[in-house]
Amino acid sequence: MNDASQPKTLANRTALITGSTSGIGLAMARRFAAAGANIVINGLGEADAIETERAGIEAEFGVRCIYSPANMLSGAEIGDMVKLALESFGGCDILVNNAGIQHVSPIEEFPDEKWQAIIQINLIAAFHSIKAALPAMKQRGFGRIINVASAHALVASPYKSAYVAAKHGIAGLTKTVALEAATDGVTVNAICPGYVWTPLVEKQIPDTMAARGLTKEQVIHDVLLEAQPTKQFVTVDHIAGLALFLASDEAASMTGAILSVDGGWTAH
Ligand code: NAD
Repeated sequence: MNDASQPKTLANRTALITGSTSGIGLAMARRFAAAGANIVINGLGEADAIETERAGIEAEFGVRCIYSPANMLSGAEIGDMVKLALESFGGCDILVNNAGIQHVSPIEEFPDEKWQAIIQINLIAAFHSIKAALPAMKQRGFGRIINVASAHALVASPYKSAYVAAKHGIAGLTKTVALEAATDGVTVNAICPGYVWTPLVEKQIPDTMAARGLTKEQVIHDVLLEAQPTKQFVTVDHIAGLALFLASDEAASMTGAILSVDGGWTAH
């Protein structure tokens, strides 16, 4: 369900979702808005397209939605993004660390700057956003931090050394902050999607073709879906649905959990 008639389980809440100009993050922003939350969207992209999306969320769901252009490579900009949420809406109740990039290459040829950018955007950015948002959550006695990790937080694949390292790292960060915030009404959980059909997956197909000497069809069926017993891509709505539950009052006892939504990938 993702329309204006959805129950308003997040009324009076504010949700900040990093990397929400595309893919999983955008689906979560729309789902949270449908549930009545005010939204801060963030991410890269063309200004006109982002403005259309932002204004569309407000018009469709009757909530307020603002855009932060913070680059996840900058701790200072991440701090400003959280400040924008706090100043605009008086709180940042739900923080989703979702922005992410990928690069596929054997480690011997992995460009240093790509390795660093992946660790920065997929892991260190979450440190900065949590550090900035947690004090206000603790003060209000309510917070929901959702880190979008990956099946690669639990298992590895070749040629993805930086991504796998970052995603294993964010699983550890999730569990640590869950313990630190456990008595403050703040939960911290990680969602671990399998392969979801988004631009992030589509863009890695050419590099995987090159790294493994395969055709596009072989990459889709023999590499990507090979890992998933369901033989189906996960959808952005499957991820957004779980995120909505984790953000709700009913999920108060779920914290420090590393939750797979991967079509059975990590079951074998
Ligand atoms: P996507 O490429 O569709 O979206 C990524 C988002 O991150 C975009 O909004 C982009 O603008 C933003 N972003 C990238 N670099 C940024 C930066 N420097 N500063 C600010 N924003 C930046 O990808 P997606 O598949 O929706 O991925 C979202 C998350 O889900 C990522 O953390 C990814 O690792 C994770 N994930 C995706 C899959 C999958 O199969 N698609 C599987 C497991 C985990």
